[in-house]
Amino acid sequence: MKWVLATRNAGKVAEFQRLADELGGGIEWLSLRDVGFDEEVEEHGNTLAENARLKSWAVHRQIGLPVLSDDSGLFVDALGGAPGVRSARFAGDDAKDADNNIKLLGLMEGMEERAAHFSVVLCAVMDGKEMLFEGRVEGAISKKMEGDDGFGYDPLFIPNDFLETFAKISWEQKDAISHRRRAMEHFLRWKKNFF
Ligand code: IMP
Repeated sequence: MKWVLATRNAGKVAEFQRLADELGGGIEWLSLRDVGFDEEVEEHGNTLAENARLKSWAVHRQIGLPVLSDDSGLFVDALGGAPGVRSARFAGDDAKDADNNIKLLGLMEGMEERAAHFSVVLCAVMDGKEMLFEGRVEGAISKKMEGDDGFGYDPLFIPNDFLETFAKISWEQKDAISHRRRAMEHFLRWKKNFF
């Protein structure tokens, strides 16, 4: 069965593909490039779910195939949930990962309360119907950037039960506990029961 994976972030595509390969599910994933979708969908929603829905429906309306899209973010307790839905653009519209990490570290300077979680919402749209799935991973924000792997806030995020950041632990370890893995498991379980 063919599904379009509606995400352009190369780090996320790689992670989704590793997870899909590992978890199976009999899906042949197509990228937005594979299906010739080159529109930029504005992510102006106030929640992860709204943004994921915007992307899935835009692609589904044009392409007709089943679509899975995601929106994710880092939610820091002591900052009232920021950067949250604005994670990718935290330090400005053209912000790079390093700019976002530096801004976050600056805001948290001197703070001892560092609990945070990554969350992702997946929106599956097929045959004109939609389903939402959420995945989370809890952890804490490190006091300095550590590690070269991964993307986004990985150098600052230490998942619970680990001593090192997502950017330092192996891909296998991240894939075993990540928010995307948990959401993908929900999605694949639904797909298996539904078809
Ligand atoms: P999205 O592309 O709108 O979903 O943006 C999500 C943003 O949240 C990314 O650009 C990253 O900054 C951050 N993010 C989401 N998931 C992860 C992750 O697994 N590691 C690091 N940063 C992440």
